[in-house]
Amino acid sequence: MSFDLNKIVRQNVVAMKAYSSARDEFQGATDDMVFLDANENPFENGVNRYPDPMQRTVKLELAKIKGVAQENILLGNGSDEVIDLIFRAFCEPNQDNIITLPPSYGMYDVSANLNCVARKEIYLTTDFQPDVKKVLKAVDNNTKVIFLCSPNNPSGNLFDYANVKALVEGFNGLVVIDEAYIDFASEPSWVARLQKHPNLIVSQTMSKAFGMAGIRLGVCYASKEIIAILNKIKPPYNVNQLTQQKALERLLAYEDVQEEIEAILVERDHLEIALKEVSFIEKIYPSDANFLLVKVDDATQRYNQLIKKGIVVRNRTTQALCKNTLRFTVGTIQENIALIKALQEI
Ligand code: PMP
Repeated sequence: MSFDLNKIVRQNVVAMKAYSSARDEFQGATDDMVFLDANENPFENGVNRYPDPMQRTVKLELAKIKGVAQENILLGNGSDEVIDLIFRAFCEPNQDNIITLPPSYGMYDVSANLNCVARKEIYLTTDFQPDVKKVLKAVDNNTKVIFLCSPNNPSGNLFDYANVKALVEGFNGLVVIDEAYIDFASEPSWVARLQKHPNLIVSQTMSKAFGMAGIRLGVCYASKEIIAILNKIKPPYNVNQLTQQKALERLLAYEDVQEEIEAILVERDHLEIALKEVSFIEKIYPSDANFLLVKVDDATQRYNQLIKKGIVVRNRTTQALCKNTLRFTVGTIQENIALIKALQEI
């Protein structure tokens, strides 16, 4: 399959000029200079200056950890902004379409609807793998993006390498792999294969393994050409100063992140063993993420019973292929004990 980025990008995006911020126009900043260019309040309080629009320091550290070049990274206000930018750059409203693979993360649909982009839904197989043949058959001349989520939310499993490869190589549009949970997974990220696949976009986040859902930092990895297009259309200061500072602190203490991931994985195993003993749990799905999807006798009844005991889980019973399932996030040891105790009591 031949991939031509010029055919994928929207013509208004090609034609437009990016906003040029004060920080874009002068980049040789040193501490002893006087900055009277951006109409900021001059009195220092830690956030009176605009943040770096390109988040260079954060990208530098992230690039080291993830083994990619900085030019292959775009940061967003959560993955949700990254997803939305992809729609706005590549999908023509009321003309193009995307393919999603339910059950999956809900924001692809929300962003598609918001941007007037049609969706084609090709359900995963019963073991939550992409049905490669059906997906490729659904592609038409206006299909711009296939969204894959691996490890998948809500099922928790990784998509098989061969399935993802077949889709990336068999489609001449963009394949987005949402790897929000990849830091918990037993297989490496597709980020390592970006050079090989010019139509690949990998989306990650600091909301999960990095423990920073509150700062809203999503990460997009792609070819430098794709990143340049997304940079052109993103709001100039889309990642605020406080977020950049917090993210940098966390990246510089990456061993802490790794320790927490290890602890969560150990707890996931403990939780799985304990859940097997709960009489009304019929199935625990294999997980490469920080949550477990379980099938129960009556998900809505069990969900409400857990609420009464002060434990909030996610009822996924209305999702495709997920009838009577609940999704349990792996918590601390104490939280998981509380969950098990509540399940045994009800
Ligand atoms: N992708 C997936 C698959 C998710 O499950 C979630 C959060 N539930 C996100 C993205 C959202 O990430 P962020 O917090 O970076 O917007």
